[in-house]
Formats: sequence, structure tokens, C-alpha cells
Amino acid sequence: MTLQPVGQLTPQPWMRAEETRAVVAALTAEGAEVRFVGGCVRDAVLKRSIKDVDIATHDPPERVMALLRKAGIQAIPTGIEHGTVTAVVGPCHFEITTLRCDVETFGRKARVQFTDSWAADAARRDFTINALFADPEGRIYDPFDGLADLGAGRIRFVGDPVQRIREDVLRLLRFFRFFAYYGTPPPDVDALAACRAMAPYLPRLSGERVSGEIIRLLMAPDPASVLLLMQGERVLPHVLPEAAEFGRLRLLSWLEGRGLRLDSVKPDPIRRLAALLRTDAEGAAAVASRLRLSNAQTDRLVALCAPAVLPDAAMDDRAVRRALRRLGADRFRDLVLIAWAGRKAVEARPHPGETEAWQRLLEMADAWRPVELPVRGRDVLDLGVPRGPEVGRVLGEVERWWEDGDYRASRAETLEKLNSIVRDGRGERPA
Ligand code: ATP
Ligand code: MG
Repeated sequence: MTLQPVGQLTPQPWMRAEETRAVVAALTAEGAEVRFVGGCVRDAVLKRSIKDVDIATHDPPERVMALLRKAGIQAIPTGIEHGTVTAVVGPCHFEITTLRCDVETFGRKARVQFTDSWAADAARRDFTINALFADPEGRIYDPFDGLADLGAGRIRFVGDPVQRIREDVLRLLRFFRFFAYYGTPPPDVDALAACRAMAPYLPRLSGERVSGEIIRLLMAPDPASVLLLMQGERVLPHVLPEAAEFGRLRLLSWLEGRGLRLDSVKPDPIRRLAALLRTDAEGAAAVASRLRLSNAQTDRLVALCAPAVLPDAAMDDRAVRRALRRLGADRFRDLVLIAWAGRKAVEARPHPGETEAWQRLLEMADAWRPVELPVRGRDVLDLGVPRGPEVGRVLGEVERWWEDGDYRASRAETLEKLNSIVRDGRGERPA
């Protein structure tokens, strides 16, 4: 490993932050050497916003715990046998990992050995761009030419790709995820060949690990092209055989990103997943269960894959309001976006006025306030209708009238209508 720094990070707000300085001061109080590692260094080099700060140290985890506590910093033994401790300062979490080399790896569980070699620790990391280190002064250490790869958009495994994937199959999915965020085509040939060869081992991964990667991949600026690459390499069918609507996903991501600039429309992984799948309610439920989605996410995915109402640009205002009332604004908006993307995927040129028509649906969703039928079953009973199916029939009829009137009728007006429906039902003439 190059022991010499190869560059210097520009001053980073996260490095200068009080919280970071407190953790670094605690860890180095008795002379230990620490370096920032992984995503924070990689993203700092690219001037992208960083997600979390990972720190590597020579000290074993017990000592890390003691040093943090001595400095009054909360220390959580997150994965003490793997050498990981989490330091919590106010809202900030820092993952502190003891330098280690993996002696044996079986999936995520590796038998680890702590080491005092930065080179050994770098060698167990997955990609060259993830094996960058920076010391507290911002000097960059780059043992595997990760900086050059980062500049060129090359996602390259540290070491032999087949062997690295055999040690932990998740790295296969991580390859595509990092390619989606940091890669420039064409992808590394050796890595791709290894992914293709090792793909049949993917089903060994737990649903949670697969899900974590798929969701993060879906949140990339343009996930469709990478998912299509995974399809072409026969990787995707091992984790998501239902994926088929790549064009629709591409256009949905575009709409959510640069295409529309609406505050209410942000990239959303479940909506993107629904746009990608070609399946029915049962199939969507099966995907959700495989990916261990929450109940709320499952309901949403199923509702989007098997919609109760299919919005289209030709809907009139009344039909839109009916759909909004039935689905709620959020689900209606999801379906509009998916339907619009699907339409764009098959018809490159919109009809005159079509874009405005789709946009109008989204604006109506933004402006929608939930409404409730101003009468209830109790009101029907009060008019002398006996308990039973007739109550529901009468309510249904008044609701249709209320919908036809665009939900504008007041309670008094609706009661009056109810009254006339009940009288008509009895064959009475209105007074
Ligand atoms: P993110 O921005 O998603 O947090 P990251 O690079 O920080 O990206 P983490 O999952 O937080 O990713 O992992 C931190 C570092 O640990 C990585 O940069 C990489 O060096 C190493 N790492 C994580 N998972 C693996 C793995 N499965 N195999 C090898 N190294 C890994
Ligand atoms: Mg990280």
C-alpha cells in the first residue's frame, strides 16, 4: 500500500464539524492513528453530499469504547466481534471500525482478524473507490488507484472479482449499485463477467440484504439503464424475475427528477419498483414478501401494480375527483406518474395538449382536500328505513348523486335528497 498521501481533500464541513472533531479527539487522545474511510472520502472527492462518516482505527473495539466513554461520548457496541462501534454525538452517528482483514468469509459473517496494517484493511474492501482513506488533516491515501477509477467512472473490485463475490455474494449487487451512482459505461469487463458467472448464487442472500441493495439502486438518478444491464447479464432474473418495464421506469425516473419540478413529486423507491414490475396483485405481494417490505410498503406496491382505477390524460374533472376520493391524493399521484411514464415509453411524441393534461391531474392531486359524504346510515334510519340492505342501497344512491354534484352539496341539501330518495322508494310523491 502506498504509505504516502496522494492528495488533499478541500476543507470539508463534515470534517470540521464539532461532532467529528470531538470523536477524532477522543479516539486519538492516547496516540492512536485514525482515518476516514469509505463513502465519506469517496463522496468528498466528488464534491457530493456525504451520507455517513466511517472511521478506521488501529485500536481494538474495547479500547475504542473506553476512549469514547472517557471523553463523555456515547458508544454503542454495534458489531463488537467485527470491530465496529458506533459513536453518537447529538444527531450524528459515526461508525468506527478496527483495522481488520477477513480470514474467512461466509456471506456477511466473516471470521475477522484485527491488524495494524492499513493495506490489509484496504484489501478486504469491495471496490477501489471504496478503499480510499483520509487522515484528520484531509490527506488522501489511495492504495488501489481508486482516485483514477473514480475520475473515470470505473467500478473495479479490489482483487479477483470472482473470488471477492464468492466471499460475499452481496458484492455482486453492490457492483451494480455503485455503477449506477458512480459508473460511466462501459462497465469493467472482468467485473461484469464475474457477476454473470456468480449470479446463480444470489438466491442465497437474505431478503433484507437484497432489498437494501435493490432499494438503493432504485434511488439512483437513472436506475433503468443499470437494471437493463443486469437483465442483459442474466443477473436480475435471480433476484427480480418480475422486472420487465425498463422503459417505463426510465421515464418515471426522468419525470420524478428533471422532468417535472413539482414539490409533491420526489424520487420514490416503491413507486419506481411498481413501474419496473409487470405483474398482478398476487405477484406484487410475492415481491414485497421476498424483499421484506413493511406492511405499508406492501399495500402500496400491490395497489400500484393492480390499480383499482387507471388514470389517463383524457379523464374529465369529475372522473378525477372521483378517483381522488377513492384513492387519496398520494396513491392517485403515484398512478398518474406511472401511467404517464408508461404512455411516454410507448409513444415518444405526446399528442397536442397531452402533457398539459397529465400535469393537470397532478395539480388536481396537489389541490385535493379529502371530502366525506355529509350523511350517514343513522340519517337513513331516522327517516324510518328499517335496518338492513335497504339502508346501504339508499346511501349508495345519495352518494352517487353527491358525486355527480362534485361533492358540493351541503349536509342540509344532502338530507333533503335523502328524504326524496326514501319517499320515492316508498312510491310517495314528493311534497
Ligand atoms: P454509502 O454512501 O452507501 O454509505 P459506503 O461506501 O459508505 O457507501 P457502506 O455500506 O457504508 O458503504 O460501507 C462502508 C465501507 O465498508 C465501504 O466503502 C467499503 O469499503 C466497505 N464495505 C461495505 N460493505 C462491504 C462488503 N460487502 N464487502 C467489502 N467491503 C464492504
Ligand atoms: Mg457509509
